[in-house]
Amino acid sequence: MSNIVAIVGRPNVGKSTLYNRLTETRKAIVDDMSGVTRDRHYGLAEWTNHPFTVVDTGGYVAGSDDVFEAAIREQVVIAIEEATCILFIVDVTTGITDLDDEIASILRKSKKPVFVVVNKVDNNALLADSSVFYSFGLGEIYTISSMTGSGTGELLDEVVKTF
Ligand code: GDP
Ligand code: MG
Repeated sequence: MSNIVAIVGRPNVGKSTLYNRLTETRKAIVDDMSGVTRDRHYGLAEWTNHPFTVVDTGGYVAGSDDVFEAAIREQVVIAIEEATCILFIVDVTTGITDLDDEIASILRKSKKPVFVVVNKVDNNALLADSSVFYSFGLGEIYTISSMTGSGTGELLDEVVKTF
């Protein structure tokens, strides 16, 4: 059984951009049939000779905010159950939102390794804004730009150590 790296976070933080970067041309997507995994995409990735499965989570259920947030919460709970480790993506340009805080509180109860990944750190000026994310109490933060790929190598070096 392959190691599974789950990407979670609220909408628009860059989960799918990171997923696409990690899976690149290896798009062997395994489509799951169950309703609960409808919003999940599985792809194959590899780093320093460690193959793994990446899961991109959506949770985009139309309807009230309650349903919307419940869907995201459900994705996080599934990730905690199925993943070897979890990438909790946040957005340096928005800082911490209520939904980020809610996801963080679920992840703090997880026994699986959680990486706080601060995305959209496209330049050094944004690095200074990243330190607020230590307040989640989830340990080290990893600053990346999914767009340029910067920082992803340092992150993946740590991720593969959890396998
Ligand atoms: P998701 O909803 O979490 O899957 O987020 P997406 O991957 O769809 O990205 C949301 C938006 O953020 C898109 O417009 C992306 O182009 C943009 N985005 C993603 N990663 C980065 C990044 O590293 N830097 C910047 N500036 N924008 C990014
Ligand atoms: Mg997405």
